[in-house]
Amino acid sequence: MRLLVSRDYKKDDTVVKIGNVSIGDGSLSIIAGPCTIESFDQLNDVASGLAKMNVDILRAGAFKPRTSSYSFQGMGAEGLEMLSEVKSRLGLPTVSEIVDIADLSLFNDVDILQVGAKNMQNYSLLKALGMQEKPVLLKRGWSNTIDEFLESAEYIYREGNHNIILCERGIRTFEPSARNSFDINAIPLLKKKTHLPVIGDPSHGTGISELVMPVSLAIVAAGADGLMIEVHENPECALCDGRQSITLKEYEILENRVKLYEKIRNFDNSSI
Ligand code: PEP
Ligand code: MN
Repeated sequence: MRLLVSRDYKKDDTVVKIGNVSIGDGSLSIIAGPCTIESFDQLNDVASGLAKMNVDILRAGAFKPRTSSYSFQGMGAEGLEMLSEVKSRLGLPTVSEIVDIADLSLFNDVDILQVGAKNMQNYSLLKALGMQEKPVLLKRGWSNTIDEFLESAEYIYREGNHNIILCERGIRTFEPSARNSFDINAIPLLKKKTHLPVIGDPSHGTGISELVMPVSLAIVAAGADGLMIEVHENPECALCDGRQSITLKEYEILENRVKLYEKIRNFDNSSI
């Protein structure tokens, strides 16, 4: 069956607009921030540092669906209030993960609703997000095929919400030396199969901070519309995903390189 999210159905790229940021128009957007909100100062410090650079969108999780029920579960509603305060101070659009549609009203001030890898096939959540208007950032499950990923996006799209951003975030393979194997094929394959914007998350895709830069460059070269990067002022003390988080200093270097690769890519595309 021909999906509404497929290129066969719609040839032109879908562009998702969030304030002044356009995702899917051929440019590269950068989403960055901490895995999770830990305190107002932690969020405000890292977000202020990112705002001084060219970050487009601030990420920060308040509801964290963790593998272990004993791990830090996020600050919930209190965290979203902090995100709202930081957003109004800095003027950055925000993205945060929603795990339960009953929480929707808490996300009034969040610009993009993230559906995490663990919820990629939570069809009642997907349908409910299709019935509201905020853009959705849908992450690929680590054991899901590209076609299953597109079927999940279809659940949102067919309910009427067409503002969907797809995010490749690594898959589980037989290789144990990294948290996940970033599926670089997924970027050009998805761009070919769907008109929706496609971004890459090298932080979860590798699980290792030293790999975030090289894999980011590969994601840009592969034609992604954006990157999502985890940044923490003090990764060793992070309550969640510290091993894969880069510092603000490292982020600055990464951003400069990534922007250079974006220029080369766009020059290449225009000369074909
Ligand atoms: C996250 O973005 O912090 C996250 C939990 O990612 P994923 O759902 O891809 O594991
Ligand atoms: Mn994380």
